[in-house]
Amino acid sequence: MIQMDNIYKSFNTVPVLKGISLEVKKSEVLAVIGPSGSGKSTLLRCLNTLETIDDGTIKIKDEYLAKSVDHKAVYVDKKAQKRILGHMCMVFQQFNLFPHMTVLENLLEAPIHVKKMAKTEVLPIAEELLRKIGLFAKKDAFPSRLSGGQQQRVAIARALCMSPDIMLFDEPTSALDPELTVGVLNTMRQLAEEQMTMIVVTHEMGFAHDAANNVIFMADGNIIEKAPPQDFFNNPQEERTKSFLKNML
Ligand code: ATP
Ligand code: MG
Repeated sequence: MIQMDNIYKSFNTVPVLKGISLEVKKSEVLAVIGPSGSGKSTLLRCLNTLETIDDGTIKIKDEYLAKSVDHKAVYVDKKAQKRILGHMCMVFQQFNLFPHMTVLENLLEAPIHVKKMAKTEVLPIAEELLRKIGLFAKKDAFPSRLSGGQQQRVAIARALCMSPDIMLFDEPTSALDPELTVGVLNTMRQLAEEQMTMIVVTHEMGFAHDAANNVIFMADGNIIEKAPPQDFFNNPQEERTKSFLKNML
């Protein structure tokens, strides 16, 4: 589903991703953990072209988004980028719903205006998603009347309304109180059970442990260790992983 090879990215000559390679298979849930500043958000942002990479290859659903040519990343044209990026949706730490639109309008916006779908076609999909996250009763409410956890679940439903094949999450619960975190994590667990392909940057070790198929530990722009959660948490191989996990517990 996703293949990244030898990704390099610097900000003002400061290297932030130093030759990252990873693969995510269909229906795989990949959890990405690591200290602040290790490059986790940058990695996701490079994947959906919010940032451009300097060198490396990115393939999504077997199509090149960018290809390394003479040690430089060459991107496919804008039209192809748009099509390829249409397979992915990203959910951020801050829910950034449209404040002047109701919950339902938030869900309908992109399918109608970006995908040019008919409202009659999207409406049942949007309503079904709201039922699924348990917020159908709030469909006509404005985001400011919802709790942070409810807003984040709406943000996830809004992304799902675009029918993506891949979901990217950048610390979706870290702005939430613990009791609100549970509902959002449950929504994400459900998505995982439904075989969604997901990359999740998270500090929630419980989620990484039970919901992920693989866990990556990043530090200093490198992937230090990758393993299935049982091995990763019970038997980490690298010293940096061990000391990070010790501090998390
Ligand atoms: P956190 O856990 O705090 O979210 P992170 O692992 O997501 O951290 P990134 O946000 O990817 O880390 O940042 C990696 C490094 O790149 C940091 O040193 C950061 O200061 C730097 N960086 C990120 N974005 C930019 C930018 N737009 N311009 C300059 N430097 C940046
Ligand atoms: Mg980050």
